[in-house]
Amino acid sequence: MSRQRAKLVVGNWKMHGRMQENAVLLTEVASGASALRNGVDVGVCVPYPYLAQAQALLEGSVVRWGVQDVSAHAQGAFTGEVAAEMTLDFGATYAIVGHSERRAYHHETPELVGAKARRALEAGLTPIVCVGETLDEREREATEQVIGAQLDAVLLMLNEEQAARIVVAYEPVWAIGTGKSATADQAQRVHAFLRKKLAEKCAAAAEVPLLYGGSVKPENAQELFGQQDIDGGLIGGASLKSKDFLAICQAARTVLQ
Ligand code: PEP
Repeated sequence: MSRQRAKLVVGNWKMHGRMQENAVLLTEVASGASALRNGVDVGVCVPYPYLAQAQALLEGSVVRWGVQDVSAHAQGAFTGEVAAEMTLDFGATYAIVGHSERRAYHHETPELVGAKARRALEAGLTPIVCVGETLDEREREATEQVIGAQLDAVLLMLNEEQAARIVVAYEPVWAIGTGKSATADQAQRVHAFLRKKLAEKCAAAAEVPLLYGGSVKPENAQELFGQQDIDGGLIGGASLKSKDFLAICQAARTVLQ
């Protein structure tokens, strides 16, 4: 596997942020990211109402922006949903799909997550497909079975060319927002498994960015990102503080050197 895949670090703001604080955060992230130079792509996935603000403040910078969910439908009578094309009107690049909070609180099925990923791709967005096991599933040694099935449900909906355009984020549910990250070794094992599964579907599996998410902090980012199959991170809590988020981006830059 190439060690020279670009790194990708994406912030998931979840349901945080207000206009004034966002302006400071986005401006600081844009300015800090410009100093990283080549090799690290940076993105932020903001709440829908702030897409226009992200576009206004990030356009022309090296930082891309996106959303945290997207409808599986192109348009129509789907009250409360947001279509991929609508986000494109605001220059979005990324749509997170299948985040564990949506699977758990909104009962999103693997099939729905697959349909959302396909819709995002058809519209020209890059879906960041989240997969991850619960603590109970890990303790039952069912991690590969669970995340394998989650990934399969998505790959089933895609052709090979589409599969090559996704980003996959391994986010163990027990590590999200808990302060308890997977170890670099635990994460690498799962990433290697995901890479192998992707290779069964698409020849370009080696190029698909595989992110780790779950309590990534400036202190653990470098070790995680230094693993063979970990191409960066999906960052929740730490993406709300520019200093921490930029330190994580810098860790991604450091492992490339
Ligand atoms: C997330 O929600 O995608 C996430 C990884 O959260 P945190 O970094 O806060 O664990």
